[in-house]
This record gives sequence, structure tokens and C-alpha cells, in this order.
Amino acid sequence: MPGYWFDNAICLTEKAGRFEAERRSIEVVGGSIAALHPPGGPKPPRLEFIDASGLIAVPGFVNCHSHSPDNLARGTAADLPLELWSLTSSALRERRSHREIYVSTMLGAIEMMRSGTTAVLDHVRISPDIDGEALDAVASAWLDSGMRVVIAPIVSDKSVIETLPFDEDDLAGLDLSAYGSRAPLPARQQMTVVEAFFRRWHGEADGLISVGIGPSGPQRCSDELLAAAGDFSRRYDTILHTHVLETRLQREMGFRLYGRGMIAHLDGLGLLTPRTNLVHSIWLEPDDIGRISAADAAVIHNPVSNARLGSGHCRLSDLLKENIRVGLGTDSACCNDGANLLETMKWAALLHNLRSDDEKTWIGPQTALRLGTSGGADAIGLPDTGRLAAGCAADITFFRSQAPAFQPLNDTVRQLVLSESGSAIDSVMIGGRIVASGGRCTTIDEAAIWEEAQAFADRRRIDGVAAQAAAHALEKPIRRMRQRYGKLWAAGGCACH
Ligand SMILES: [Zn+2]
Repeated sequence: MPGYWFDNAICLTEKAGRFEAERRSIEVVGGSIAALHPPGGPKPPRLEFIDASGLIAVPGFVNCHSHSPDNLARGTAADLPLELWSLTSSALRERRSHREIYVSTMLGAIEMMRSGTTAVLDHVRISPDIDGEALDAVASAWLDSGMRVVIAPIVSDKSVIETLPFDEDDLAGLDLSAYGSRAPLPARQQMTVVEAFFRRWHGEADGLISVGIGPSGPQRCSDELLAAAGDFSRRYDTILHTHVLETRLQREMGFRLYGRGMIAHLDGLGLLTPRTNLVHSIWLEPDDIGRISAADAAVIHNPVSNARLGSGHCRLSDLLKENIRVGLGTDSACCNDGANLLETMKWAALLHNLRSDDEKTWIGPQTALRLGTSGGADAIGLPDTGRLAAGCAADITFFRSQAPAFQPLNDTVRQLVLSESGSAIDSVMIGGRIVASGGRCTTIDEAAIWEEAQAFADRRRIDGVAAQAAAHALEKPIRRMRQRYGKLWAAGGCACH
């Protein structure tokens, strides 16, 4: 069969940024949507016919920020702010075997494809140092899963203690050589690994796999490394994906390092471009929104993670008012702790109502769905996905209309974003291939992956004790630092100016 004919589905098509529900028959040929036909017309011969009259066809969701290595550590991290939370998650990522890395990636693929996500940006950290074969294990898993992915390997060339606004007293007398003060690989060596990885994998799997570059965060990279990452993004015309201003302490660190805001610093280095993803962007300076908008950089909003870690409130409606492109992400399985974009869209739709009495600034389900589909696709460099339209990739999630969330059916978009959890998903298609059906991934032996994952997690709890101890040597200094800044902020001050 060269393709499919989904007959008479309720299709969510986007016109001028708003979704409409209309009955259409979807013609899929190869990996693309060939056309959307008014119902009742003749179907081209040789297509597999599917009666879709009981289905709602939605553009596959686009998860713009995740970390596949963290999937194996789901459920391990306590309720802590980022700087303390990361000690546990970092230790659990240390010195993974290639098979652990592969299985961890597959866990995310299973969860996302089952919940209707068809494309993801994987911001991958390999610990302790970036490594080509480990990255190959990540890419192999994505290849086997059938998901569309942008892999952005994390680069970072500062030791952990250089990335946080410690005072000397905070660290006095501690041996931090096993984790906190450990020296990473030099910038040039890291970029060589990423360049080779790009050449091996970019465009593979009929274009399902692409490769970007993922500086961990400005404060975690030398300016030399940031400039090299910017150069890489420019030369290969690919995404530069970086955490930025996730916490208030990071804002303090930016001023300590640069004497100005982090966004201004990135701009000064030429790193604000339409290829740039600014992940989180919570603690912005007054003129940052103008800078981001002028550069046409994109912001990736992770509402569940921001709440889980108490990081702060992203000014989403202000960003959208300035026409800044925004995508949505789930972030890590340790700080969400899921990867369900339906849930993230609901948070994005509602969370911001708490911050404004003016309902005209509220996000709502229409905008949340756009950010979770076409908006996200544009942000991570996949402009031909995230849409039900002729010529776009056949990345489609089909929901059963005979399900609690859609009964009675009054407003398909509102009910999809606010009522549906993923339990009504009938099937998921990526690049013209069915990857999930009847509640299961068709491309992955789920039970085998889960069995392996459990064994790895059990072993890691025992074998990872030394790594946890090494990372948690920083717990007291971080608590001291947080206390100091907490007092400063409570007194109305900050160290920035
Ligand atoms: Zn993240």
C-alpha cells in the first residue's frame, strides 16, 4: 500500500492561528499528507481505506524540551528547587552503559507516542563527559522508535561549582573533586564530538532525525564554547537549544559573570537568532522581551517543570503579545514527572489565569494547542510538521470521539485540551507510519524495555550510592547560598545592580 485514506474524520485544521473542526478525508501518501478532501468524494485507488468517521484527527503534538537520560530516574527526585533537585538527577545519570542510555530513551518514546506526541527535542546530557558512542545509543533508540526527533547534545565546559553564585565560605573545607569541582572536557573537544555526531545522524531515518546543539546554559559554558555552538548552528543551519534564566539564582549568576543580563550577553555573542531556543526564560530583564522578539528567537515554556521545581512564572502572555515564537516542553521525567503534552497544554492554557485579572491576556485552549503543535514545530525547526495540511508530514494523532472527554461534543479544541488525558487515543501516525494503536506502541516491544528498565533502576539504586554521595557533598553549600540570597531578596535587594 502506498498510503492511507482516513475517511470522514473530524479534522482540527489551523487557519490564521485558530483551529477549526471540520469533516475531511485525509489522503496520506508516503510520509506526507497529500490532501484533505471534503467527505463523500471518490478516493484514489490503492490506498488503505480506514473508516475514520468516529475519529478526531489532530496534528501530532510537539514536545520542545525533554531529556531522555532522565527517564530511567523517574520518581527518584524529591520536591526540591532546581539547584538541590539536580544533585540527585545528575548522580543518577553518571557513567551509564550504552544499553541503559538506549533503554532510557525508549522509555520516553513509548510514553510520548502513546500520549500523542509525534516529535520531540531531546536535550541529551551524557555524564560525566559527552561521548560519541553514547550519543549513538540515543540516536539508535530514536531510530528504532520511529519518532521524529531533534537531538541537541548538551555541551558544558565548567565545573558545577563555577556555575552557581557561591561565596568562598560556602565551599570552605570540602572535597568536591569527585563531582562539584570535576573538570569537564575542553570546549573544542566537545564540539568535535558533536560535529561528528551531526555528520553521522542528521537527516537519517528518512529525515525523522535531525541534530542540533544544546549548550546546557550560558552560566555553564565558557564564552568560547557558546561562540562555537553559535557557529555550529549557523554553519549547519540547525537549532541551538539552551536553558536560560530558569531560576532567580541563575539571574544572579548572570550578573556576577557578565555584569549584565544573560539574554543581553547571548545577544552580544550573536547567539540570538531564529534558530535559537531559549528554554524557560523566566527571570528576564525588562528589555529582554524586545531583544528576543527582534532576533526572532523562540522561547520554550515548561509549565509543569517550572511548578514542580518552584522556578518561577514565565510571562507567556507578554511573550506572545510581542509575537515571540513559543513552543511547549515537558522537561525531564524527574521534574515533571511525565512526558504527556496534553497535560502540559492544559497547564499552559490555565496556569497564567492565576497571574492576571484581565481575561484577555489568558492563554486558553486554542493558543495552548497551537503552541503544542505548529508553534512548537516552528520553534524547533520542523516547519512542515505540526499541521493537518496538504504537503505537511503525516504526523497525526487520532482520538476516538466515543470517549468521556468528547461526549457530548460541543467544542472539540476545548475538550481536547481541557478534558482529554490521552485515554481516548486510537492511533498515532508519524511520517505516514502507524507507531501506536490500541493503546500500545507498534514499533517497540514495550514489555521488554520496561523489564530492562526496572533491572537497570534497581541496580542503579545500589551501585549509585557513591555517585549520590559525591553530588550531595554540594547540598550544604547550596543551602547556605540559597539562605543568603533568600535574605537578600526578602529585604528587597539583589546582587545584580
Ligand atoms: Zn531541561
